[in-house]
Amino acid sequence: MRYPMTKDMNMAELVARVEESGQRIAQALMKIRLAEDPRIDPAEPMCRQCQGKLRIQEHEQRRMLSTAIGEIEYLRAYGVCDRCGHTVAPLDEALGIPSFGPSVEVMQKISHAAVTARSFELAAEVLKEHSGIGLSAKQVRLNSEAEGERVAAVRAREVELFRKGGKIEGPSAVPALIVVTADGGRVQTRQEDDDGGCWKEDKVGAIYDANPHKDPAARDAEKYDGAKARTKTFAATMQPWEEFGWMLCVEAYKRGYVEAKEKLFISDGAQSLRTFRQDHFPEATFILDWYHAVEHLSGCSKAAFGEATDESVAWYKRMKTKLWMGDLDGVIGAIDKESNRVGKPQPKENSGSPRVILHRDIGYFSENREGMDYPRFRAEGWPIGSGVAEGAVKQFGMRLKGSEKFWNGFGFGLGAEEMLALCALHRSEDGRWQEYWRKRAQPSARHNSR
Ligand SMILES: [Zn+2]
Repeated sequence: MRYPMTKDMNMAELVARVEESGQRIAQALMKIRLAEDPRIDPAEPMCRQCQGKLRIQEHEQRRMLSTAIGEIEYLRAYGVCDRCGHTVAPLDEALGIPSFGPSVEVMQKISHAAVTARSFELAAEVLKEHSGIGLSAKQVRLNSEAEGERVAAVRAREVELFRKGGKIEGPSAVPALIVVTADGGRVQTRQEDDDGGCWKEDKVGAIYDANPHKDPAARDAEKYDGAKARTKTFAATMQPWEEFGWMLCVEAYKRGYVEAKEKLFISDGAQSLRTFRQDHFPEATFILDWYHAVEHLSGCSKAAFGEATDESVAWYKRMKTKLWMGDLDGVIGAIDKESNRVGKPQPKENSGSPRVILHRDIGYFSENREGMDYPRFRAEGWPIGSGVAEGAVKQFGMRLKGSEKFWNGFGFGLGAEEMLALCALHRSEDGRWQEYWRKRAQPSARHNSR
């Protein structure tokens, strides 16, 4: 028997043993590799920031680095640039090792766990169980927020460039149809406002390309098989609608919004979104999310005839058909008739009262009228729902709400904004998550070329 130590082990124990040995070998190899690197203590170290001369303060400074093959200890020179104050270890810079914190591939795992798990506690558990990375929930939070801050900073630079008139490169293939869709959600933040509320609005936008799928004869929305989203990409923020508008414009331009043969904007009929669309996507055809429109009809039917009564169900069905057939005059007329029957709302009447609901929805259907030409939309083969954005709002929002209530929605504080940037990067389907990490691991060009 060649392996007396392991003769009584089962397969799981064998795998664990071999894995552990493999990791020890990998660590030993890495240590040798790093110890032999000529860039540990270069003869003429240069400052990457100002190309000045770097003054080495310590030639053998010890660093422990958390990597995917465990903790690696190594020695490297460490210096400061007297001209610009930049402090750096040339070896770290040359290898693309972050100046603090774990290595890039570990940061990728931490960030991935943070955006996919429901809370930082669960993310920490997943990291421990799957990758042997032992971090507290708080450490997971701090690391992923710091990464999100980098992602948000890259995005902010793009937006700034665009606002100054910089050109955004579109895709190589012109999409037949580009769809912009946006929605807002509510996120609980730690900040207590003066009125005691601590809710802020997050905004999520999704852009996708699609091939139109004409289906003019579809009898109802359930049977309608319009264009399906192909590649979806996202932008999400806690910043005001105006800022979000620029952000989503950049995203849309990247996806070929300018060149696309058809441009659509799908959303619910909220006032904030209406202004948003007119300001930032005026060229796009507006489509009011079918499901929101129908929800309003349902609200009207209950307001007029009570919850789940035969009359209410019959009225709702009739209105839904009218809406589907594009008979907006019929729909608005019918709501108006019920509104007159139950009476106009009193001043300061409760916003959930039947009178208020019916009165308000006359406005809703009148103001969003242009977005409800459903017969045309299905003849063109366009999508009629904003589910892609709403799904992301729900998913990102759950991610934010599911954690502790430490989100600080604004400015300098770390939290929601950083996590939203990271979530949007991760959820985008054009491969940008992998691309981001590939670039992140790259050393600066100057060291690389040597
Ligand atoms: Zn310098």
